[in-house]
Amino acid sequence: MYIETLRTHSKIEMIDITGSIRQIVKKSGVKNGICLVYVPHTTAAVTINENADSSVKRDIISKLSQLIPEGDNYTHIEGNSDAHIKSSIIGASVVIPIDSGNLVLGTWQGIFFCEFDGPRTRKFFVQIVDSQK
Ligand code: ZN
Repeated sequence: MYIETLRTHSKIEMIDITGSIRQIVKKSGVKNGICLVYVPHTTAAVTINENADSSVKRDIISKLSQLIPEGDNYTHIEGNSDAHIKSSIIGASVVIPIDSGNLVLGTWQGIFFCEFDGPRTRKFFVQIVDSQK
């Protein structure tokens, strides 16, 4: 399993990690299989969405913040319930097929690490499963 570290710079942000995952797939030498990207945090997440127009990213962040405000009648004493809820809604993992050594992503798709309680140092794990073994 590959472990990647990244530094986030805002309370909420989406960071395109497609390039580093493509490199990991290449390094693995796996031609056909699946790539699991997993985030081991309760206030962060991972998702696949458009990476061509950055306004999509801004709209996702803005709508999530509107639906799940920072301050509400939460009971969690740490004061970051909004980040926990956003994390659960978006999810902790994505699975992408690998075909002929390449990630199978649509033309406009990218993989995003989602920070909801930054800035922090974060990790994500990448597990490559070879379907020919
Ligand atoms: Zn908390």
